[in-house]
Amino acid sequence: MSKKALVIGGGVAGINAAAELATNDKSVILVEKTGKLGGNVNDMAATFPELDNAQPLLDDQKAKVEDNDNVEIKFNSEVTSVSGKAGDFKVEINENGDKVTEEIGAVVVASGFNYMEPNDYSEYGYKRLDNVVTSQEYEKMVMNGDIKKYDGGNVAFVHCVGSRDQVKGYRYCSKICCTYSAKHAILLKEKVPSANAFVFYIDIRALGKGYEEFIRDAIEEYSVRYIRGRVSKVINQGNNKVLVKAENSLIGDPVELEADLVVLASAMEPQKNSEELANVLGIETDEYGFYKEAQSNMEPVKSSKEGILLAGSCTAPLEIRESVAMGKAAASEGLSYL
Ligand SMILES: Cc1cc2nc3c(=O)[nH]c(=O)nc-3n(C[C@H](O)[C@H](O)[C@H](O)COP(=O)(O)OP(=O)(O)OC[C@H]3O[C@@H](n4cnc5c(N)ncnc54)[C@H](O)[C@@H]3O)c2cc1C
Ligand code: SF4
Repeated sequence: MSKKALVIGGGVAGINAAAELATNDKSVILVEKTGKLGGNVNDMAATFPELDNAQPLLDDQKAKVEDNDNVEIKFNSEVTSVSGKAGDFKVEINENGDKVTEEIGAVVVASGFNYMEPNDYSEYGYKRLDNVVTSQEYEKMVMNGDIKKYDGGNVAFVHCVGSRDQVKGYRYCSKICCTYSAKHAILLKEKVPSANAFVFYIDIRALGKGYEEFIRDAIEEYSVRYIRGRVSKVINQGNNKVLVKAENSLIGDPVELEADLVVLASAMEPQKNSEELANVLGIETDEYGFYKEAQSNMEPVKSSKEGILLAGSCTAPLEIRESVAMGKAAASEGLSYL
């Protein structure tokens, strides 16, 4: 009888890894540390570039594993120890406080990313000013209709908060915030046409199929105003307004915008416990704590340890389509050990 596979993390990467293994008639244990599947997509209103409603899409993804006889989902669970080798691992899982040991042939790590709280950026007023929110909080405001109150108002979207920052953030680019900020501005214009959307950017990085056109649509069809310049400060004006101060680096002039809401596109960072899980699994991380590929170009889903595969945004900031594709690819690699 072939060994079971283990998938760690029930976001879109983990769901697709588990579903792919199950389709190949393999038994899969899917370990999810929270009480629900879906990961960060649970907090998403719509997906770029098609602007599909994210929640029905996610429900379809969850259904692939929820009613699948080959997939056993363990919620509120975490892997606490791994011994043995590829094809023959012994894995201890803490399931709701009870420890169980499973014989596992291959492991797919799909534990995702954490969304950085921009607490170190006091100049932007996050948590101090009511009208400064993160992009993730903005997604929820779109979902529950809270953005309607910006009827006739100004909303400023601020790029690169905590990313591309040598001093107090991460040196890397979070890769998808240019595109999701355009999505946020378009959603504002679609749902509250009288509102004005302003995007403060350093440069635009929208490298994916349809992404460049999506940004162009934001500018040309939805009249979103793109202002090139790093925001230096957000100042309380009273009367529920803030002043966004930046320098327009195209013309070298300072820019000030009175805004009703400021949305900070904060960095995608490794999970807080990513090093801990790496130690349990015996795999390497990169300088930030994302999981390191065996060879980043040629072996993108293999970790530094044989039989342990990687999928999704636990390796780097990634969008959904790449996370899904990696989940399926990691599952295919895993088949050879089962
Ligand atoms: C504001 C915002 C907007 C976005 N908009 C878009 C968009 O429009 N289109 C798009 O393509 N992408 C978008 N993204 C990116 C998208 O969220 C990611 O691509 C996607 O969530 C990655 O899926 P994942 O499965 O790799 O990770 P996650 O979604 O992070 O899922 C990881 C799962 O693993 C679980 N987990 C973590 N650690 C453990 C552990 N030790 N043991 C067990 N389980 C664990 C977590 O609880 C979670 O369920 C957006 C991201 C943000 C922040
Ligand atoms: S994707 Fe865009 S907003 Fe995000 S860090 Fe990179 S350049 Fe900045």
